[in-house]
Amino acid sequence: MTFGIRNIVGIHRLHHGEKNYSTPLIFKTYSQWSYWQRKAFDYLIWCHLAHVLDFSAALLCWLWIFPMTFPDAHQWHWKWVCRVFLYNLACEFTLYSFWHWITYSRTSPYAQGPLKEKKYNPTNQYEQKDQNNLLREVTYTTLGWLQSALVQCVFMWLWASGRLPYYNDFWSRPLFSIFILLAVTFWRELHFYWVHRLMHPWWSVSNGLQQGDVGAFLYRHFHSLHHRSRNPGPWAGLSMHPVEHFVYYTCAYFPLLFACHPLHFLYAKFHADIAPIGGHDGFDDPAGGADFHYLHHAFFECNYGVPLIDFDRLFGTYKEYIRKPSPAPENKKLN
Ligand SMILES: [Zn+2]
Ligand SMILES: [Zn+2]
Repeated sequence: MTFGIRNIVGIHRLHHGEKNYSTPLIFKTYSQWSYWQRKAFDYLIWCHLAHVLDFSAALLCWLWIFPMTFPDAHQWHWKWVCRVFLYNLACEFTLYSFWHWITYSRTSPYAQGPLKEKKYNPTNQYEQKDQNNLLREVTYTTLGWLQSALVQCVFMWLWASGRLPYYNDFWSRPLFSIFILLAVTFWRELHFYWVHRLMHPWWSVSNGLQQGDVGAFLYRHFHSLHHRSRNPGPWAGLSMHPVEHFVYYTCAYFPLLFACHPLHFLYAKFHADIAPIGGHDGFDDPAGGADFHYLHHAFFECNYGVPLIDFDRLFGTYKEYIRKPSPAPENKKLN
């Protein structure tokens, strides 16, 4: 879940003791709507509005970085490649550092105020001196951004050199362009569930890991690195093994299948880059509020997806977060 203005204003309100810190900035009567009105709103409007930050990073890349890089991208040259990488790293360090500062930094008044009470696991994982949680998470998150920047360069080269069809004028096919853009939101959640489920044991682990379980192999060698952030924070979301990054970012490879606009690719890519920040910050509303995925980090074999597409309820792996103070979960390892 991507953080946005709603979260920043909510944290500010909470900090100043306002009781209405969860009241939406727009659509203020949401909580009074019927169940179906709320569902329709969530699936038709809010699921897209919630990713405005990801889309803004993609749009800025298209409007600012593409004009100064794409004309040269028909052949490899360090100058345009560096610009693409620099833009990506600037996005990473601006957005991830900002949310880390708000929620965890000792210099942030918000992190030191009532927001502390909203932390799912009250232990501050970044103040445990024997664990280099932050260094590990920043390192692997940066490897993720570097890989996604490389994927962006490869697609730019494929398009600019005529090796892969695309179209340049977004409004030349308005219905198709808007449809694919909206579909990216749902595609990302669907793709995330399945590639994530793939990396956990495929069979029940109640009697230990089964011989020949491909999911157990993938978990042990790759996905377990992401789960070292048992008590996650903003930098934990993209803290993955590079092999898992490769699988994760295949959500943005759909331009290989049909001619689309570069903005479609950029939205999927920046969605994958940025959305994990709020989904892992470890705080209840008005911060990320991702109790669903917090439980996945705490208990492993539940809540593999994102509630927008509810495969977990369908396949019996849904676990509900009970809002009461609970001790930090004990360590549990898959051997
Ligand atoms: Zn997992
Ligand atoms: Zn996670």
